Amino acid sequence: MTSHPVIFCDFDGTVTEKDNIVAIMEEFAPDGWQPIVKDILNESISIREGVGKLFSRISSDKRDEIIQFVLTRSKIRDGFQEFIDFTKKENIPLYIVSGGIDFFVHPVLENKIEAEQIICNGSDFSKEFIEITWPNACDDKCTNDCGCCKPSVIRRLEQKYPHSQKIVIGDSITDLQASKRADVVFARDYLIEKCEENSIPYTPFETFFDVIHALEKKEVRS
Ligand SMILES: [Mg+2]
Ligand SMILES: [Zn+2]
Repeated sequence: MTSHPVIFCDFDGTVTEKDNIVAIMEEFAPDGWQPIVKDILNESISIREGVGKLFSRISSDKRDEIIQFVLTRSKIRDGFQEFIDFTKKENIPLYIVSGGIDFFVHPVLENKIEAEQIICNGSDFSKEFIEITWPNACDDKCTNDCGCCKPSVIRRLEQKYPHSQKIVIGDSITDLQASKRADVVFARDYLIEKCEENSIPYTPFETFFDVIHALEKKEVRS
């Protein structure tokens, strides 16, 4: 590697093995949320609008139950702790950039990484129903209404780490725009298809041991 890396790693389906938002809806939302997910997937509404709508169906007093639910069911991908240790040893800044919501993302990552390294959406439980807040919304260069805008986050942090090699790790469509801005992409699942379609070089991975190994051996496609 020529320049020092900085890592932007997705959360749902990347750090955790499965997606949490849909699981939360299945468990806690009254029926009628499914068409909203469909609308998000076929892009007839933005991710920000859709995620806001989904959570607005759930009563604020479910907060602690949802946290327990996510903590109980979420399985962390193999090698994640070792990966964190590796980035510390190598002095590589690591950010978890997630379209998830703070109240369940932070507890899953507690005692693993610092809160400052987690970039995600926010939440407000002061009203009857859950309200999602958007501290990382799109900057003026993005018109996708992402919610947590990964390319905007990268643009912002690029200024903190000028000339660094940007590494993106992810699994799905929300990582595509970030992957276009990356120097190195680690992809699994649907993001592999999207990288192929867009001719973005990527290194496939299944566990974080694969990522550590590739970074140690400098066996990355870029
Ligand atoms: Mg994901
Ligand atoms: Zn955006």
